[in-house]
Amino acid sequence: MTAADCLFCRIVAGQLPADVVHETGRTLAFRDVSPQAPVHVLVIPRDHHADAAAVSDADPSLLAEVLSAAVAVARQESLTGGYRLAVNTGDDGGQTVHHLHVHVLGGRALSWPPG
Ligand code: AMP
Repeated sequence: MTAADCLFCRIVAGQLPADVVHETGRTLAFRDVSPQAPVHVLVIPRDHHADAAAVSDADPSLLAEVLSAAVAVARQESLTGGYRLAVNTGDDGGQTVHHLHVHVLGGRALSWPPG
């Protein structure tokens, strides 16, 4: 997959709009277009990696940066009561956009386990 046909690469490139809430040199965070909680932000690496396994193999420090950015987003969004970081991976994991993203969910009590 190339940037041209990856939805989140197009957001990184500024070719699609996004409600950006946090940025670092190698990560970008924006609000999910279909929020599942009062706060629902996606944190992605700017570079294309299909999923957590791909970035873990190619650039494990980037995986750590994405997770740290997700924690920074939770703090910025004042999720003092707690929150969930979710990384759906592959078809059985419910991944629909094949560019690694960490969901930051919070703002209400979240049920567990997910469906
Ligand atoms: P996943 O199912 O884990 O791959 O999550 C993909 C997420 O991307 C879903 O929660 C979608 O609502 C979200 N999404 C899809 N398109 C956009 C977009 N253009 N801007 C923001 N979020 C999006």
